[in-house]
Amino acid sequence: MKDLRLLVRPNIWRLEPYSSARDEYSGHEAHVFLDANECPYNAPYNRYPDPLQREVKQLVSDVKGIAPEHIFLGNGSDEAIDLIFRVFCVPGRDNVVAIDPTYGMYSVCAAINDVEYRRVRLDERFQFSADALLEAASQNTKAIFLCSPNNPTGNDLDRDEMMRLVEKFDGMVVVDEAYADFSAQRSMRDEVPGHPNLIVLNTLSKAWGSAGIRMGIAYASVPVIELFSKVKYPYNLSALSQEKAKEILSRRYDVAHWVKLILTERSRLIEAFRQLPVCRTIFPTAANFFLARMTDAQAIYDYLVEEGIIVRNRSRVTLCENCLRVTIGTPEENSQLLAALRKYPNT
Ligand code: PMP
Repeated sequence: MKDLRLLVRPNIWRLEPYSSARDEYSGHEAHVFLDANECPYNAPYNRYPDPLQREVKQLVSDVKGIAPEHIFLGNGSDEAIDLIFRVFCVPGRDNVVAIDPTYGMYSVCAAINDVEYRRVRLDERFQFSADALLEAASQNTKAIFLCSPNNPTGNDLDRDEMMRLVEKFDGMVVVDEAYADFSAQRSMRDEVPGHPNLIVLNTLSKAWGSAGIRMGIAYASVPVIELFSKVKYPYNLSALSQEKAKEILSRRYDVAHWVKLILTERSRLIEAFRQLPVCRTIFPTAANFFLARMTDAQAIYDYLVEEGIIVRNRSRVTLCENCLRVTIGTPEENSQLLAALRKYPNT
């Protein structure tokens, strides 16, 4: 890996971060807070939340088995994705490389930050080659984006190949594991302490059932976490979100139960899709959704909308021609989808 100083935007490396009122007195017991221009009424929401979210990080650390210094918490993992561009990429000069197809926000954040986005097509099994990604990289490539399980394809990326890339690339490797809680593959998070160029993303929006509270997680080396913390908005996670995050992180056995239910329903739904005359192929999945190639994805999508059922039409995405992406719902919701498809006009 290149020296971190050479990878980070020079203005960010030099940045003197905003110092919030609560940062400055630390180390003393205090009970009268007249430092942050807050209103003294309407407790507890009159107070700014902990900018470093220490209690939430401790819980994430307990649940995920990684030290709090390796954890950054953001307003969704989308915040962490954007921070990767803002911390590492000089607009108009640097570039990133990413697998294609994958989650759409990487290219949107690249465009917002005026960073060139280089796509490298997956193979027909939706797998990647580390060498192909390295070939697409240049001296100005700051990061390579992987997503496992990948969205919208659903499959795990090959773990050995991911490790090969981490070991060979001299910039940052980002592995987005938004859906890893549904997968049996060992998380790349375990590799973070030994690999300073690895950033692993996770979120409370999927298996943890908390998309509404907006909390994403990045695991990375201590210096990278410090860079993210200095660039983020000081109070990027509200007190309400932190409270709800602590609540759900304390219910890990409920979450494990939900994951089990979703995986059981996923098998049932896939089996039933296989029997549908309008379904051509179902691709292997390790996530809470699956990608299915249909006879006519647009027509089936439109029909389902008429029936009040919304799936995602991914037909215009690379390698996903005529494909629908279906999220696993409750047994009742899944049955409604199947009932609608069984009476689809052309079947
Ligand atoms: N990564 C992937 C792969 C996703 O599919 C999504 C959401 N669709 C996200 C990140 C964003 O998650 P969050 O809600 O944490 O911003």
